[in-house]
Amino acid sequence: MTLDTEATFLKGAGPAVAMRLRALGIERVRDLLFHLPLRYEDRRAHRPIAQLRNGEDALVRGRVVGSDVRFAGRRTLRVQIEDGSGTLLLRFFHFNEAQRANLGDGRWLQAFGTARVGAAGIEMVHPQYRVADQAEELQPEATLTPIYPLTTGLAQPRLRQLIAQALQLAARDAALMRVLPGLDGPDTLAALQAIHLPKDDHDAQRLLAQTHPAQRRLKCEELLAHQLSLRVLRQRQRSRPSPRLPRAAEAEAELQAQLGFAMTGAQRRVIAEVCRDLGAAQPMLRLVQGDVGSGKTVVAAVAMLAAARAGLQAALLAPTELLAEQHQKNLARWFAPLGLAPLLLANKLKKTQRETALAAIAGGAAPLVVGTHAVFQDEVKFRNLAVVVVDEQHRFGVQQRLALRDKGGARAPHQLIMSATPIPRTLAQTVYADLDISVIDELPPGRTPVQTVVLSNEKRDEVLARIGDACRQKRQAYWVCTLIEESDELDAEAAEATATRLRAELPGVRVGLVHGRMKGEAKEEQMRAFKDGLTQLLVATTVIEVGVDVPNASIMVIENAERLGLSQLHQLRGRVGRGSEKSQCVLLYQGPLGEAARARLETMRATTDGFAIAQRDLELRGPGELLGRRQTGEIGMKLADPLRDAPLIPQLQQLAERWLAEEPEVAKLLIARWVGDADRYARV
Ligand code: ADP
Ligand code: MG
Repeated sequence: MTLDTEATFLKGAGPAVAMRLRALGIERVRDLLFHLPLRYEDRRAHRPIAQLRNGEDALVRGRVVGSDVRFAGRRTLRVQIEDGSGTLLLRFFHFNEAQRANLGDGRWLQAFGTARVGAAGIEMVHPQYRVADQAEELQPEATLTPIYPLTTGLAQPRLRQLIAQALQLAARDAALMRVLPGLDGPDTLAALQAIHLPKDDHDAQRLLAQTHPAQRRLKCEELLAHQLSLRVLRQRQRSRPSPRLPRAAEAEAELQAQLGFAMTGAQRRVIAEVCRDLGAAQPMLRLVQGDVGSGKTVVAAVAMLAAARAGLQAALLAPTELLAEQHQKNLARWFAPLGLAPLLLANKLKKTQRETALAAIAGGAAPLVVGTHAVFQDEVKFRNLAVVVVDEQHRFGVQQRLALRDKGGARAPHQLIMSATPIPRTLAQTVYADLDISVIDELPPGRTPVQTVVLSNEKRDEVLARIGDACRQKRQAYWVCTLIEESDELDAEAAEATATRLRAELPGVRVGLVHGRMKGEAKEEQMRAFKDGLTQLLVATTVIEVGVDVPNASIMVIENAERLGLSQLHQLRGRVGRGSEKSQCVLLYQGPLGEAARARLETMRATTDGFAIAQRDLELRGPGELLGRRQTGEIGMKLADPLRDAPLIPQLQQLAERWLAEEPEVAKLLIARWVGDADRYARV
């Protein structure tokens, strides 16, 4: 057996286990090695019960001094243990008779769980436990216990046992022994051994503190592999020629003449960067970051116009139908005097309309196409696609961008990716190492910043009265309900309940409702009704976060704002302050506020600058949360954290550069090791 053998051949990995391993992305023995612990549990000593602190994970050992079954809402087995320092209550909601019988008075019990201060003193709910007749039979672990990401039906001990087998095979693996020039610290094998099988106390201290050289080594490998894969991706993309659009700057002047406003300095600077890219025979790969309302569409319009003026095609992709429609309308208004009509490839087109549209795209009669990811579909064929713009980038993955590139035929289209999630430059350079980055760091003049107030829920009635008055004066408002749990269903219920309540409280005000459980069409219908002024108050969950533009909506109330993260609050608030009317945002909170929540709300009250907010967000939380699940999922790092580990990055970027030039084999090996499936990029 080798590391490339399928994991099913390991002892203890039958077909059922194999299936669960696959759910974790583990196919071969090698994959087990790189299935790394999420954290460690310290079961190396028994904690005296009297010393347990609330929220602490601990191993305890004591004698059973009583047990009973209660019906307190649900059937509960309660077991009391005593260790000489104090007594601890264990609660179990799932248990059987055998289990219960096993826990008689006088037996010894060892439990690992989270200590909580409950009504009856200190307790643990559903700890892991073992029982024995003698205390000596229940000994603590010799080393730290690694805890791995799991899937249902696969337990930690099984995974540990499989990983131990993999480590044995690893000692004979040539690729793992390969020296990685420029990376210091323990070699890969030694690092994996230290992380999976912590040895002594010194190891344990450093692993818990995240300062172990093995952790640093593997983090460096992972960050480096990520840099390398993105650079390879970029190289491959850039190796295909693109149509040159040397007259792009003329498109800027032509568009400016149509706009009712002067472009900001930041817009002009970014457009100049884009035009330079478009003039080259290699594809542009550029990310434009700009706060909500900074005017990214203008930049997109210039690039698209440049393609059309060269007799080629451009496509703009939006994350939702409604946004696509909004873009199409805007562009149509700007381009009509120039004799250009952008085509909307909407899902709702009738069959014949759709066929006509597809024919126009394939024949080149439609130089400008706007749509959702439906544009990725195989049946959409372009005649000569030269520019692709992707709006609100975080809704699209790398994979989808790759699919788009293929729409250009032999020539690779230029890519312009626009993101309204401002992230600090260093982080952006790590996460988007395959892209050049431009920043629109200036808002159009004359915007009155949204005035933000933070109010306790006790003031809800006053807020309600103000909203009622405003709506009756033909103003429009959003009322945002926040997530109660990670559940669309509960979320939808809460939103529905809120809408019902507001309808009763605000007679004469037409109240609309959108939430994540509604079908796409129903959702868009509600949005459109609001946009067209048919409803005055729109009750919504956070689904309205992205891009919708209803200039007449000038008030936003966010309920339980303390539950939301800063970047989400900022995106939501960006929905108002888009018209001439002075706008307000009311952040309602349910006290008492924790320290972090207080800091977030204060930040929102004090500033409307997206980059300042992003920076503060990073200070208050990790970058994973800032980027949102979609993006972290896409980055898919196991160990490294691009923000916390930022100091490592400059040196790794240099190393990546050097390896690609001098050690392509090593580069390939590292990508395969950490990013896996490097072939994903090979088709580029
Ligand atoms: P975002 O960056 O959020 O996509 P948009 O491109 O939708 O921003 O622009 C927001 C609004 O600002 C639009 O109504 C747009 O027409 C307007 N706008 C864009 N640039 C300027 C400018 N330089 N001066 C005044 N208004 C502008
Ligand atoms: Mg936009």
